Order: sequence, then C-alpha cells, then structure tokens
Amino acid sequence: MARLTLDKVTKVFDDDGERIVAVDDVSVEIGDGEFLVLVGPSGCGKSTTLRMIAGLEDISDGEIRLGETVLNDIPATDRDIAMVFQSYALYPHMSVKENMAFGLEEATDMPDDEISRRVEETAELLGIGDLINRQPSELSGGQQQRVALGRAIVREPEVFLMDEPLANLDAKLRAEMRTELQQIQNNLGTTTVYVTHDQVEAMTMSDRIAILDEGVLQQCGTPLECYHQPNNLFVAGFIGEPSMNFFDIERHGSILVADDFEYPLSDTTVSKLGNTTDLTLGIRPEDVVLKSSVESDTDYHAIVDVVEPKGDENVVHLVFEGNDPENGTFKAVIDGMKSVTAGQRIVVGFPEDAIHVFEASSGKALR
Ligand code: ATP
Repeated sequence: MARLTLDKVTKVFDDDGERIVAVDDVSVEIGDGEFLVLVGPSGCGKSTTLRMIAGLEDISDGEIRLGETVLNDIPATDRDIAMVFQSYALYPHMSVKENMAFGLEEATDMPDDEISRRVEETAELLGIGDLINRQPSELSGGQQQRVALGRAIVREPEVFLMDEPLANLDAKLRAEMRTELQQIQNNLGTTTVYVTHDQVEAMTMSDRIAILDEGVLQQCGTPLECYHQPNNLFVAGFIGEPSMNFFDIERHGSILVADDFEYPLSDTTVSKLGNTTDLTLGIRPEDVVLKSSVESDTDYHAIVDVVEPKGDENVVHLVFEGNDPENGTFKAVIDGMKSVTAGQRIVVGFPEDAIHVFEASSGKALR
C-alpha cells in the first residue's frame, strides 16, 4: 500500500545560531494513488517537506511512513520514491535513453533488455519515442521535462514527488502538460505529492490540496472544499483568482458595519458568530452580483474604477459611491458580454449565501 503519512513532522534549520522552523508539526495522510498538491507562498516550507519525504533532508521531529514502514532513518536511495525537479537535472553527456535508464541501472540488477523495454514504453507514453537517441541539448524545454518525468516513471516507484516540474515551461505548454501529467498519474495510479506556488495548478490538478503558510498546514481538502469553505483568512485569500475581497467590520448586533456600507445579517448567520465582534467580511469577486437597481439592504451603489477585459468575463475594480479609489477598491467578475466603463455608476449585490465571515484577530472562519 503506497499510503504516505506525515505525522507531526517538523523541520528546524540552524542558520548561524538562528533557529528557523521551516515545517511546523505538519500531519497529513496521502492515500494510495492520490494526487496531493502542496501549495503556498515562497518560503512556506513546500520544498523542505518534499525533501524530507525523499530523504534528502533529515526530519527534526515527527514521523514519515510509507504504508506501515517508517521512513525517517531509511536513506534516500533505499526509499521506493522518485523525484522530479524543476531544473530537470538531466545528465548533459547522456542520451535521452541513457538518462531514463540510469536510475534503474544504478539501483537495481534488472536485465538490460527489461530496462530497454521499460524505457521505450515510457518514452512512447510521453510522446518522445522518436527522440531517445538525442542529447538533452538537442531537446526543447518541454521535451527535457518529459525526459525528467520519464526517468521517474521507468522506476515504477511507489511514490512520485514533483517539485514545480512545470515552472520552466511557457504558459501554453504548462497548461497542456498539466492535463497530460494528470492523465498519466491517473493511469499509473502512483501516489503523488506535487509542489507548486501556483494556486491555479493546485486547483486544477489535485485530488486534494494541502495549503502551507510559514511552515504550518492551514487546510487540507479537495479544491472545492478549500474554495467554498476556507478554514481561515489565509486560505480564503490564497485560493481563488482574482482573490477574495475583504472588508474590516465592526459588528453592532446583527449588523456588520464597514467603512463604506452596512450589512444586515440573518438570524442563522448571527448564530454562527457567537459573541465575536472583531470581524472581517469576505466575498469572492465572482460572487458579487451586478444589478439593475437597489432591491435589498445588501445592494450598494458603486463606481467603476478600472475594467480588465478577459474575453468571456471582465474583472471590474469598483469603489463604493462617495469614496476615493486611493482608499481601496474591490473587485467583481462580470459576464464579458455586459458592457461597463470606467466612471460608470452601477449597483452591486453581496448575496448572503456567498459571504464569508472571519474572526479578524485569529483569521478563523466563522461561516
Ligand atoms: P519556494 O517556493 O521559494 O521554493 P518553499 O515553500 O519551497 O519556497 P522552503 O525552500 O521549504 O520553502 O523553505 C522554507 C524555509 O526554510 C524558508 O524560510 C527557507 O529560508 C528556510 N530554509 C530552507 N532550507 C534551509 C537551509 N538549508 N538552512 C536554513 N534555512 C533553510
């Protein structure tokens, strides 16, 4: 069973006497065949986590297990895990075929004809079957990336670890490879941990996302769970593009009072807030509704500041009427067919079923 478990895993670096907690008490279980994406901003501990799983970094505290086997003290070369790096790390003097075969030749006593068979099959699977005699310098970036992937696949490991493997590709190729990689992983059914700082990549590729910030696991769930029910302000702001709009709130009973608007709450929502009064209200730009007139207490007049056309939709930067854009704008995503122009006065609605409310001090989601 290639179930991978991180149990209270911590990594502390000593940087000239300074204690750096790169990974802080992270627990997550990655199911057999699951595709888990580790995501978070630069420096949040993604690569360190991956390197501990690979055995390239010691674990300061906690346990990593593959099935029932504790990996902590097993050297990297003896773990049935293959890693794909952003840099590809191909040997420049070896052909594609030799690059792909190298790991198997080194680590196993597999017969040459079996190695050749696996390499050729994998090269076909990756669409580089006709390139196997070329040197890496004779390949495009995308082709080199496939060789790096092929080198991991031929080993038929229990686990794939991938550290931003698509980061060096252009946007179009990256989008293509995302789908292809997902299909390959699906067909092979190999447990995979994939690191990226790109939340779009995380949302589109993964079975589940684990979101890290400053070494601490913020949430682990399906992309839709993290999008619709973020645990806290960090996840709410990190997942979703454009990001969620946030407003500082003072609560007066059942009314949320922001600088520019008031938001009356239903009894159901009020009951979820307890006695907390320091709040942040969040609404996703795609949940802001463009209306023809003010129809309820949660519809507001706003002035269009900037329109970013994106083809099928427009991202509209708005300011509450009477306010200055310098003091902050908020965003709405509207249908690309609806025409709005800078300076226009419009009405927007914040439907109650779409709002998120957080405790401001802790960031914790209250609904
Ligand atoms: P990026 O997306 O920029 O690659 P990351 O999320 O992968 O970032 P890590 O590389 O895991 O982040 O680093 C996490 C933290 O640990 C950072 O603060 C980093 O500076 C620190 N760190 C990483 N390696 C070492 C090391 N060998 N010695 C000291 N500190 C380190």
